[in-house]
Amino acid sequence: MPRRNKPPAFVLELPLRVSRADERVLLVRFEAARQLYNACLGEALRRLDRMRASEEWQAARRIPREQKDERRRAFRAATNRYGFTAFAIEAFGTTCKNACWIGEHLDAHTSQKVARRAFEAVRQYGFGKRGRPRFKGRFKAVTAVEGKSNAAGIRWRGDRVEWKGLVLSPLFDRKDRHGVQAFALQCPVQYVRLVWRWMHGRRRWYVQLVLRGRPKWKDRNPVGDGIVGLDIGPSTIAASGEEAALLEPFCPSVEFLSRKIRRIQRAMDRSRRATNPDNYNPDGTIRKGPKRWVYSHGYLRLRAELRELQRRLAETRKTEHGNLANRVIAMGRNIRMEKLSYRSFQKQYGRSVRDRAPAGFVNRLRRKAESAGGEVVEFPTRTTCLSQVCHGCGSRQKKPLSRRIHACGCGIVMQRDLYSAFLASCVEEGALHAGLAQSRWPGAEPLLRAAWRDATCDWKGRRPSSFGGYRSQSGSSGQGGTANAEASDLAWAGREAAAVPARTPRL
Ligand SMILES: [Zn+2]
Repeated sequence: MPRRNKPPAFVLELPLRVSRADERVLLVRFEAARQLYNACLGEALRRLDRMRASEEWQAARRIPREQKDERRRAFRAATNRYGFTAFAIEAFGTTCKNACWIGEHLDAHTSQKVARRAFEAVRQYGFGKRGRPRFKGRFKAVTAVEGKSNAAGIRWRGDRVEWKGLVLSPLFDRKDRHGVQAFALQCPVQYVRLVWRWMHGRRRWYVQLVLRGRPKWKDRNPVGDGIVGLDIGPSTIAASGEEAALLEPFCPSVEFLSRKIRRIQRAMDRSRRATNPDNYNPDGTIRKGPKRWVYSHGYLRLRAELRELQRRLAETRKTEHGNLANRVIAMGRNIRMEKLSYRSFQKQYGRSVRDRAPAGFVNRLRRKAESAGGEVVEFPTRTTCLSQVCHGCGSRQKKPLSRRIHACGCGIVMQRDLYSAFLASCVEEGALHAGLAQSRWPGAEPLLRAAWRDATCDWKGRRPSSFGGYRSQSGSSGQGGTANAEASDLAWAGREAAAVPARTPRL
């Protein structure tokens, strides 16, 4: 989704002290939210299908794209006519809520937010941005509900949460060494969200205060002033600053946990098949129609273990993202990077990307950079083509992803990701500034080279192949085994460079 120019906001999360009685009330309310979500989702899907099948919609589609305004007006008329708008679905949700038991458990604002979330899921599906949204089953419970403002519904009052007769006190961080919490609590509250998560086999409740402003920058984290170019690959990250460069695996500890998760999921699947043979077709797919599922004790134990691992994965990732973002900002708070299509990234690399969540990292980095007084500038890949360009001779050549080293006929040899990161730091107004790159290269090259050498030597004995074998300035390879591959790299690069006429770089 395009980033709208919303006023800055951040979240403070605090664990809640919840008694047994409170938890019972909360769970009923969350169940009400789940049922309301399903009702709104069903209605939105029905309206979408009806709207798409209508003559009006088809006519709107036939309007040529050049007639922008007319086309937009026709689509808008259709969405209004079939009630496929956030407002209409919210109204539907409110009627639903007031007509049944849900009304006793949810307030107006919370139920409007639930309806809006369902509508948003269907709208994105309608735009082809995601798959058909699914109903939330009994075991796919709602884990978060939120209010609309701090004026009604779920509210933050003084130092606690109030929601329809419930009063919940959070556990504050008593030490709060960096004053982050104290600072956040002074900011105006936009709205309040309640969340639960599994932790060591128990349900833990949290309140998330969505606050206006930017979070406090921890003073112990250094902030660099310069420009940093960034390159994020499916499993690596490279950064090039004015005084340092960095090349490392992106979220390496996630991999170990996600492998463990896969193993448990497979074991759960085997167990489920063994205890419910009648629920499957001979070809192994799940039989259609009503079924009863039986779960063994072993299965339930595995499920608890899985939840714990998933929580740990999310937590590990969060920590790694935070540390990495801090280190990048220490190199410089003005960050430049290519705008990546994370969806196509995910399509191509699947699980590896999902578990590392690069889009989440970029969001985190952006927020941190902004609270440190800097910014993250993303520019389109299509116009800059940083992975193809050579700043030395201005030539462009498509490299297959397997080629990890940029080795150009003009004498520039650098690890591909580091080189992209360097070029990103020389982008001005969405285009590579060749003159800038040429003037910066002599200073940057030793830094990049040092980062490349460190990455290939020091990574705990394991060297991801994506880094490419290190090559010292004289051109001799650091690793004997890869020398041949790189020799062919060079030959290949030389041949390509000869084939592509050198263009004068833009100055
Ligand atoms: Zn070149």
